[in-house]
Amino acid sequence: MSTETPTMREFPWGPAADGLDQPYWDGMLAGELRLQRCGNCRVWIWGPQWICGQCHTFDPEWEAVEAVGTVYSWARSHYPFITELADRAPYVTVLVELPGAGNRRVLGILTGDDTNVRIGDPVVGHIELDEGATWPLLRWRRSEGAHA
Ligand SMILES: [Zn+2]
Repeated sequence: MSTETPTMREFPWGPAADGLDQPYWDGMLAGELRLQRCGNCRVWIWGPQWICGQCHTFDPEWEAVEAVGTVYSWARSHYPFITELADRAPYVTVLVELPGAGNRRVLGILTGDDTNVRIGDPVVGHIELDEGATWPLLRWRRSEGAHA
């Protein structure tokens, strides 16, 4: 096992070459959070899949979801493994549960006040395009109702 600190690397934000998650990124550009939903059994799907894991229907649809949820889990990182976070460490990564999408959970960075984060804190998603970036990213902020 190496004891060296890993170097930061560029993270390839944006659609994968196979096109599977292209609608997600198109949604980001349009200012919407879009998740997959099966057109047959209506189950929500995340991360993107070619086939519904529940009823095996191909090509799940994409639907816009309100970017509002609660913190299901979180972690504070003190080293920026990716360059996007170089000036943000320490930063908090949250796993956000979306009640508007069958409680599917999505990962993101918590911005704004990230002190005293607790499981269950209400959060709101913000789609942000960094200077020089091609693809916007969904980041989270605690909303009213979160304790200080
Ligand atoms: Zn299905």
